[in-house]
Amino acid sequence: MVEVVDDVKVRVIPLALCLMLGSNLAANTLRVTVVATPHDSRIDSVGDAIGYWNRQLADLGLQTRLADATVVDIPAQRVRAALRDVPGDILIVLTDGDFVSFTRKDENGRSIIAIRNADDPPLSNANVARNVIAHEIGHALGLEHNGDPRMLMCGRPAPCRPKLFASDTPQMFPLTDHEKALLRAHFN
Ligand SMILES: [Zn+2]
Repeated sequence: MVEVVDDVKVRVIPLALCLMLGSNLAANTLRVTVVATPHDSRIDSVGDAIGYWNRQLADLGLQTRLADATVVDIPAQRVRAALRDVPGDILIVLTDGDFVSFTRKDENGRSIIAIRNADDPPLSNANVARNVIAHEIGHALGLEHNGDPRMLMCGRPAPCRPKLFASDTPQMFPLTDHEKALLRAHFN
């Protein structure tokens, strides 16, 4: 079971304007802010991942949605200090670092997702970045790992690694029935 990829829905704005946005969204809308340089190829992948999650949430009969991503361009050396002032419920930082992408909560309960650089495999391989970002958003929404390599949330301690997402045709990996039940219970 795979899904085709949606149109990209992102907008790029300067940080100063970003700080004034986001107050008029519905209560069940999660604001997504992407910290990236404007021409980063992974921004498209964020749009794909948001489209995927909004289809999942709609299919589950839930009202919760991810808002279209707002992209802010912050110089790398300022990101750490600036992050606390960036609005958003889910912050996705497209870094140029070389590490295992991860999601953590900050002191205000917001989800901070750090994505590694996409210069080398596996993230440079077709179809990987959109699924890695969707996987990390899954953590932000409260999901943990499973052990099924056919599934989006497969991960440690199972031997699943991002290269399993590689594909010549765009496709998003699915959620388990258990994960869908967890999301229904959490967001209902
Ligand atoms: Zn994970």
